[in-house]
Amino acid sequence: MSRSCCVDPCGFFCVIIVWSCMLYADYVVIEWLVLPTFDGSLWGAIHVVLYNTVLFFAFLSHLRTALSDPGYVPIHKVSQAEIDNFHRRELRYDPDYDDYTSESAEDTLISTNQFVGRDWNICTRCQSFRPPRAHHCRVCNRCVQRMDHHCPWVANCVGQKTQKYFLQFILYVAILAGYSVALIITAWVFHDDNGITGRRGPYGENAQHAKVIHTICLGIESALFGLFVVAVSCDQLQAIFNEETIVEAVMRRNTRRRRVPKRPKRELLGEVCGPGHWILWMLPCNSLPGERDILRIPKDVGRRLEV
Ligand SMILES: [Zn+2]
Ligand SMILES: [Zn+2]
Repeated sequence: MSRSCCVDPCGFFCVIIVWSCMLYADYVVIEWLVLPTFDGSLWGAIHVVLYNTVLFFAFLSHLRTALSDPGYVPIHKVSQAEIDNFHRRELRYDPDYDDYTSESAEDTLISTNQFVGRDWNICTRCQSFRPPRAHHCRVCNRCVQRMDHHCPWVANCVGQKTQKYFLQFILYVAILAGYSVALIITAWVFHDDNGITGRRGPYGENAQHAKVIHTICLGIESALFGLFVVAVSCDQLQAIFNEETIVEAVMRRNTRRRRVPKRPKRELLGEVCGPGHWILWMLPCNSLPGERDILRIPKDVGRRLEV
């Protein structure tokens, strides 16, 4: 579990709820829908394997989102003097020359922090420098690169290194929800009154009542999770195609500015999901870091950082 899970009881309970719901869905699908409906047929085996494969990927992507480092910015504690100097330097930025003046004594201090680019700023909560597009998460109490939002359902931040797994998780949950609804419909269309769960079957009416109750619960669960992930994925995709995170989208909306994306959608999606074929985007495995994923910090500064 991520470090936030230890300090965020809400995240811990949300994770337990998610896992319980996924295991319950598997139980109902196998025990009450697939086995009674496709008893002894190849279709039964196919559905068991397919459903459990998707469920396995959902678990794996959930675990990877929950346990991975979302892209915490290395902490380099700065003193009050450095913060003051940093702000002074910001004031002296001269757009005519597109550079900072750098003769004063204060700049000598700043120049020791060579990794600080012009677009870096200081997080006063972490008391550390941070790169552009990094935001402070109050739950994790750290700055996260390209932070999207803190998600209690995965008990972690969705940021530069976890957004891919998060997108995979919502994709697999959407597939599971749709698959469950399709199996519910199939099970009732081909319901056999003399079968294991039938009224005239070996377990009588009790089995049929249990099947009805489990099916209703699974139907509600699938509808709720399905609608939720569709809404979340619309938000996610809209933000990615606008080349911004959810945090940045909210900040932009406050300023009422419109964003006009200039790059192709595939390229923007590839930036989140990693370089390579789109099939790799669906697998919860490590991807090669893209050019922008590399936080360039000179070696001498790197030694003074605590990650
Ligand atoms: Zn911070
Ligand atoms: Zn967080």
